[in-house]
Amino acid sequence: MIESLFNERFLKDFPLSQYTSFRCGGKVKYLIYPETIDEVKIIIEISKKYKKDFLFIGKGTNILVSDNGFDGIAISTLKMKKTTIKENKIIGECGLEISEILNICIKNSLTGLEFLAGIPGTIGGAIKNNAGLKTEWISEKITYVEYLDVENLDIIKKERKDIYFYYRRSGFRNEFIWKVEFLLEKEKQIEIKKRISEYMKERIRKQPLGYSAGSIFKNPYPYYAGELIEKCGLKGYKIGDCYISEKHANFIINRGKGKSQDVYNLIKIVKQKVKEKFDIDLELEINIIGEFK
Ligand SMILES: Cc1cc2nc3c(=O)[nH]c(=O)nc-3n(C[C@H](O)[C@H](O)[C@H](O)COP(=O)(O)OP(=O)(O)OC[C@H]3O[C@@H](n4cnc5c(N)ncnc54)[C@H](O)[C@@H]3O)c2cc1C
Repeated sequence: MIESLFNERFLKDFPLSQYTSFRCGGKVKYLIYPETIDEVKIIIEISKKYKKDFLFIGKGTNILVSDNGFDGIAISTLKMKKTTIKENKIIGECGLEISEILNICIKNSLTGLEFLAGIPGTIGGAIKNNAGLKTEWISEKITYVEYLDVENLDIIKKERKDIYFYYRRSGFRNEFIWKVEFLLEKEKQIEIKKRISEYMKERIRKQPLGYSAGSIFKNPYPYYAGELIEKCGLKGYKIGDCYISEKHANFIINRGKGKSQDVYNLIKIVKQKVKEKFDIDLELEINIIGEFK
């Protein structure tokens, strides 16, 4: 029944290695691309009826999926991109990619989000983990979030002041983040473009290329995870086809044939070495999906 509802937006046994920026991970039983919030509700209702687990997935740039995959339903937001612009406010649906919202900002002469330039995910994923830079976070630019409570399928609108946000953390757990309103300021397009290009240059200078999920660990204030890992002598450390970047030690790179378990084993080694040397427990920034050894 669900298959005929979504047609080509319903995929079975889809290898998530083709979806995630890490380019590793096993198959998901069902991958569905809803276009509306009502379709999201239908998928959740069906998954409950048939006792199937479900997860939300944006662009897949902040997740590590087990090589055993996910025996449930992945609900992709990549076809939910509706946008409304009201003066200096943009209301965007969760599947809008950061590069797309930045283009909307340029087109409408709106400034405030340039610091997100080069982050490859969607705004839904960015809100979930309060994405941004060291001191600039996406949560500071929003006024409210509309989300779906997956228990009773109610849509709730919450003001920013009532949502818990911290460094790479938000109060959202299992909720489906649907819409976000950004409060921005008017600015000349040329200035916005200039700022975006400065942020991009800085990113290119600091970050390695290759298949990754960005920074693996949160920075344990007042330290930097990358520096601690580097001081443990782990730059370049390799397992299988995955290694700790020489350019930035908080990045793990998959050269192409790496397994998720290789990434996970590198994570375990890093955590152990940093704990031994500095007595610091590194906390993951990326989201782990499925079972690992
Ligand atoms: C090269 C590179 C550089 C990066 N640089 C940065 C950086 O500078 N700063 C930074 O903060 N991050 C960075 N990231 C990480 C990542 O791009 C961001 O966290 C991004 O916002 C994640 O969005 P996504 O759509 O890819 O989320 P996904 O990886 O698809 O999902 C991440 C989490 O959010 C959940 N999720 C996604 N959409 C929804 C939704 N609509 N409702 C509820 N839950 C949802 C997922 O279930 C998962 O738990 C980088 C990643 C890469 C690969």
